[in-house]
Amino acid sequence: MFGIKLLNGIAPIVQAGDPVLRKEARRLSPTEIRSHEVQELIEVMKRTMQAAPGVGLAAPQIGVDLQIAVIEDKSEYTKDVAPAFLAERERRPVSFHTVINPVLTPIGIETREFFEGCLSVQGFTAVVSRLLQVQVQCLDGSGREQTIKASGWYARILQHEIDHLKGTLYIDRMKSRTFSGLALFETHCKGKSMAEIQKTIGWD
Ligand code: ZN
Repeated sequence: MFGIKLLNGIAPIVQAGDPVLRKEARRLSPTEIRSHEVQELIEVMKRTMQAAPGVGLAAPQIGVDLQIAVIEDKSEYTKDVAPAFLAERERRPVSFHTVINPVLTPIGIETREFFEGCLSVQGFTAVVSRLLQVQVQCLDGSGREQTIKASGWYARILQHEIDHLKGTLYIDRMKSRTFSGLALFETHCKGKSMAEIQKTIGWD
């Protein structure tokens, strides 16, 4: 399927440096979306995202040059996270869904800065400023048109995944002074507020 070598039904995740992550991916027609091949691809993307685990995965991340992303933020992912930490990020569970050929429109100009990571930049994290609220016009996994309005962490996930479909990675948008290996991030930043971290590292 799409030339992917699956291992137990799961696709390997492409890492930064692979040109497929730097192309604008191709849009799909509703007929293509309903094809057996694309439906199977969406299933593989779902399994791969859940196995990682991650809250989003774009087709280029498994080497497929198509404008498809899957998103799911399960409550179990945050069960051990402090409620205040989740509240600050406006992170709430999001059920599984597929976003195809998305067009993103900002709602307002408010932004938020938080650390984020990417399955294709394994082992690292950095602060990225993202719009607080967005609207996304796209097709769903059945090829039907839909409009998504999102805020908080869900809006961040959508911006991150839609960037992937245009060939952009978070490292293109990050506050580069904050770029950190995950282990060191745990040592130096875990449990600290963004204000405290900013005081130590300092970024514009
Ligand atoms: Zn990513």
